[in-house]
Amino acid sequence: MPLTEKTPATPAAAGTPAIEFKDVEKSFGPTTVLKNLNFTVAPGERVTLIGPSGSGKTTILRLVMTLEELTGGFIYVDGQPLTFEERDGKRVELPKKRTREMTTRIGMVFQQFNLFPNMTVLENIIEAPVHVLGKSKAEASREAKELLERVGLADKADAHPTRLSGGQQQRVAIARALAMNPEILLLDEVTSALDPELVGDVLGVLRDIAETTDITMLLVTHEMQFARDVSHRVMMFDGGQVLEEGPPDQIFNDPQHERTRSFLSSVL
Ligand code: ADP
Repeated sequence: MPLTEKTPATPAAAGTPAIEFKDVEKSFGPTTVLKNLNFTVAPGERVTLIGPSGSGKTTILRLVMTLEELTGGFIYVDGQPLTFEERDGKRVELPKKRTREMTTRIGMVFQQFNLFPNMTVLENIIEAPVHVLGKSKAEASREAKELLERVGLADKADAHPTRLSGGQQQRVAIARALAMNPEILLLDEVTSALDPELVGDVLGVLRDIAETTDITMLLVTHEMQFARDVSHRVMMFDGGQVLEEGPPDQIFNDPQHERTRSFLSSVL
């Protein structure tokens, strides 16, 4: 036992990481996008990935959501392997059923909303809670309505997504992700496809989630002020590698690498 214990400034301290990348490699055919990538995200930590287009940020989120095949290394969620595990020194793929169980703990919101266009807003939100978690329609609908209230769309339950603005659709997509009660929320440039006047409402909802829940968040965004306000840590990527990382104040005010400085001056 240590004689003194320090209280961590951020959740990034003791215990099992919410997310761990271990020697991760990702190739698309002959093109290697990520190589020997190692990092962890602590439970409740909010980490923003920044960096130039093509540096591998979206690929990282998609690997956590198991939307891309992991071509090398391991990803752990709450200390448990997600798609591959190490057994007797070998890399062994997990049964698909196990991977699917693991991904029920993870929610993702995409740039293009990806709502089901043939379903109402409410049906979109209750789909997975009913079919994946086995909740009753009544319970899922009750929770969905609470979530719609939370994202400011209580009156849109019966609307079809196509009748909503992009910002409203994105707030539905956030409610849909939250309906699964995820431990981890992945946000991939969720405001990039929106008209500028609609961005604020979506960021407002995300700020509220950040302030009122302890969901672990891994996000890619070009909204640097938002990143600064909600993140515990910012990781600057370049060419599939972490170039530098630190608290937002450090990365934004005192970047150590010229590459980070030039990236920030291009987006700020
Ligand atoms: P970022 O999010 O930082 O812009 P991405 O993760 O989207 O970067 O892409 C990283 C690299 O991987 C890019 O060079 C991109 O062209 C490539 N890439 C991403 N998805 C695919 C794919 N499905 N097939 C081939 N190459 C891909």
